[in-house]
Amino acid sequence: MDFLKTFTPELTIASPGRINLIGEHTDYNMGYVLPTAIGKKIVFKFQKNGLDSLCRVYSKTYDVGFELDLNAISKSEVEWENYILGVLNEISKRTGQVQGFDCILESDLPSGSGLSSSAALECGLAFGLNELFTLGLSKLDMVQLSQTAEHTYVGTQCGIMDQFASVISKSGHVILLDCESLEYDFIPIDLHPYKIILLNTKVSHNLASSEYNTRKRECEAGLKIIKIKYPTVKSLRDVDEVMLADYKETMDAILFNRCSYIVSENKRVLEMAKALQVKDLLSVGQLLYAAHHGISTLYEVSCPESDFLVEFSKDNPSVLGARQTGGGFGGCTLNIVHEDTVEQFIDEASKAYKKKFDIDLEAFEVTPSGGTSIVN
Ligand code: ADP
Ligand code: MG
Repeated sequence: MDFLKTFTPELTIASPGRINLIGEHTDYNMGYVLPTAIGKKIVFKFQKNGLDSLCRVYSKTYDVGFELDLNAISKSEVEWENYILGVLNEISKRTGQVQGFDCILESDLPSGSGLSSSAALECGLAFGLNELFTLGLSKLDMVQLSQTAEHTYVGTQCGIMDQFASVISKSGHVILLDCESLEYDFIPIDLHPYKIILLNTKVSHNLASSEYNTRKRECEAGLKIIKIKYPTVKSLRDVDEVMLADYKETMDAILFNRCSYIVSENKRVLEMAKALQVKDLLSVGQLLYAAHHGISTLYEVSCPESDFLVEFSKDNPSVLGARQTGGGFGGCTLNIVHEDTVEQFIDEASKAYKKKFDIDLEAFEVTPSGGTSIVN
């Protein structure tokens, strides 16, 4: 890519990944989630290139780039290009002001690890172009168009959580987001003397996009049955445990388990928000374990590696709770670990994991951080 030699960036954007404390797969069921951005991020550098419609995008992380014409945007055979193209396609539907630009991006966010590098990629581009060309998009516009881009160009029928968390987050808080109304509250999160430690299973969730869409369809199928008796129910967020109990014998067992997980997970999100507000750290930990149990046995989006790490953490009294975070089938487990024993915990977990799966665990601390921003 020749432009790299003369590239002089006018604008730098930091676009963070996210963790979700609790509320997994509840977003596309119009329920509650509790995510926050983290310090790991994709950094984008932009320049206008003076051309009408030719753009060049280069991923330093992958050492690959491509050119595109704003007047002829279509899907690519190359997966990562579709995140870029999808966002450009959505922006062009809303505004006509984007012109030729060059962009270099670099990431310290492991991709495919449940930390939503995909949303960071989409939203960072949208945020940068909004700034560079003064498009007048609101943060919520950027969140929504990025989500739509993932649906139409990438093919993952994701909910809105990842993009929302990447853009809207506030340092030191998690976002209690109602995915139906999009109303939200920032909940302060103070876990002292505990830290949030992520263990990356290094199992990349390749299966996830197909299974993700399957889970979404299963929830819709369960909902359809419930609606026969409860016609005012719009989504699984309107269903409670008492209503669902009616279907224990009659609904297909898999559909019942999927619905049952979502109904109880929504409840756990609200309980978690309360536990954080009164700093009841024991409950925080217990809710994480309960959520993982649901993820693993009812929603079936875990994997042996994540299950192993969560079980392993239970033997350690300095860990309050743990669960797999993100869409599933690997990625990272999130652990609430006492600050005095972080290194020991990581060391023991790494050894045990290596012995069991012959994989070198990657471990790091994350802190609740702010959303997408301009870097000065
Ligand atoms: P997650 O969002 O959990 O990281 P996804 O599978 O949803 O996992 O998104 C990962 C995809 O995002 C990668 O396969 C790649 O296509 C794209 N991606 C992430 N980071 C980068 C990067 N630094 N450069 C180019 N593409 C990236
Ligand atoms: Mg993703």
